[in-house]
Amino acid sequence: MLIVQKYGGTSVANVERIQNVARRAVETKRQGNDVVVVVSAMSGETDKLIGLAKTISEMPDERELDMIMSSGERVSSALTALAVKELGEKSISFTGRQIGLITDAAHTSARIERITAERLKKAIAEGFIPIVAGFQGISPGEDVTTLGRGGSDTSAVAIAAAIGADRCEIYTDVDGVYTTDPNIVPEARKLDKISYDEMLEMASLGAKVLQTRSVEFAKNYNVPVLVLSSFNYNPGTLVTKEDAEMEKVVVAGIAYDKNQSRITVVNLPDKPGIAAEIFKGLADANINVDMIVQNVSSDGSTADISFTVPKTDVLKALKNTEDTAGKLGAMRIDRRDDIAKVSIIGVGMRSHSGVASKMFTTLASHGINIMMISTSEIKVSCVVDAKYTELAVRVLHEAFELDKPYAGATAGFEATD
Ligand code: ADP
Ligand code: ASP
Ligand code: MG
Repeated sequence: MLIVQKYGGTSVANVERIQNVARRAVETKRQGNDVVVVVSAMSGETDKLIGLAKTISEMPDERELDMIMSSGERVSSALTALAVKELGEKSISFTGRQIGLITDAAHTSARIERITAERLKKAIAEGFIPIVAGFQGISPGEDVTTLGRGGSDTSAVAIAAAIGADRCEIYTDVDGVYTTDPNIVPEARKLDKISYDEMLEMASLGAKVLQTRSVEFAKNYNVPVLVLSSFNYNPGTLVTKEDAEMEKVVVAGIAYDKNQSRITVVNLPDKPGIAAEIFKGLADANINVDMIVQNVSSDGSTADISFTVPKTDVLKALKNTEDTAGKLGAMRIDRRDDIAKVSIIGVGMRSHSGVASKMFTTLASHGINIMMISTSEIKVSCVVDAKYTELAVRVLHEAFELDKPYAGATAGFEATD
């Protein structure tokens, strides 16, 4: 088999752990497989590098920031290659550029366009265990780019797709995907499998165990992804195609996201084109807007528009909104950073009603106020005060009985089809 193994920051946090990764890769190879390893930077390293840049510049130039950040993965990949060689196998480290991982030019959140993988395929054929520096690529203009926080997951799945690997194994510090973050809710249960669509929602709604784009790749190219721990040999969670069994579960998991800020533009004139102006400005600046709520005054003359953006973009978004809102005659702009989005996710929601109302009732009965709501076919999200995040996740986990086997089964909900 051809297997891509990705090891996250905690799995390569120090020399002993890097040696552990090397041992696991060598074991897999000696069992008769071809192995490609993708590594993250040693844990804390990327934050340290960003901090360093910010001591010089409050909003660092993103091209330079990518050069700086990409160095973390270079170090861990070369160290891992050394460790594999010490165990007697051939190994070679590669940067994103060296494996032909071409991205667009959106620095700090670049998208992978293609991977030529020529040197990578050659190294595999020659019996090497290649160690690829995750998180990075090269733009068409030959500048180093990075793929957004957690981007090594996406490097790994995209490489697995490009070389036709049989599966992609994501090794992290928990032994699979749980019903919710096991570091917040000790009763969280490990899932044996989860559908691509549910995992996509879980990831994009804050479960950082996989980067959202990695799940998109996995779904689009049908790559089976196995999430496992590098610290034990427990069976992990398979991210795979949806099956009939998954439909029988109303809520498969709960996610939370504290990395968003809310911006409110107060007293805008309520007329056609206003929202278009505000959000065009943000889109042109490459800012990802998530939830949007508009309230119109009772006499219909003015409107307030609230929306959420990633905290990392809030300064950029504020500046951008001030420019447009000023021109449109808004009264003022408010910003709130202490918010969190809590979401319930499950494909079973498609065919059962009463799920959202149970979420709202549960939050209300614990005195948690809901500031914004959004829904899709397979999720309901509520923005709440950040100080209630853990409480909200815990009480929802209990209310939907996710700690029990057959978590979130459809009993008590009405079938709609
Ligand atoms: P790595 O450094 O290996 O990439 P991450 O820190 O990015 O690891 O992701 C693993 C973390 O994801 C876990 O430690 C856990 O706190 C968090 N997490 C959030 N939601 C979930 C979930 N539903 N299942 C498992 N882990 C989760
Ligand atoms: N090192 C990068 C980060 O911390 C990428 C990754 O670990 O996946 O975000
Ligand atoms: Mg990660």
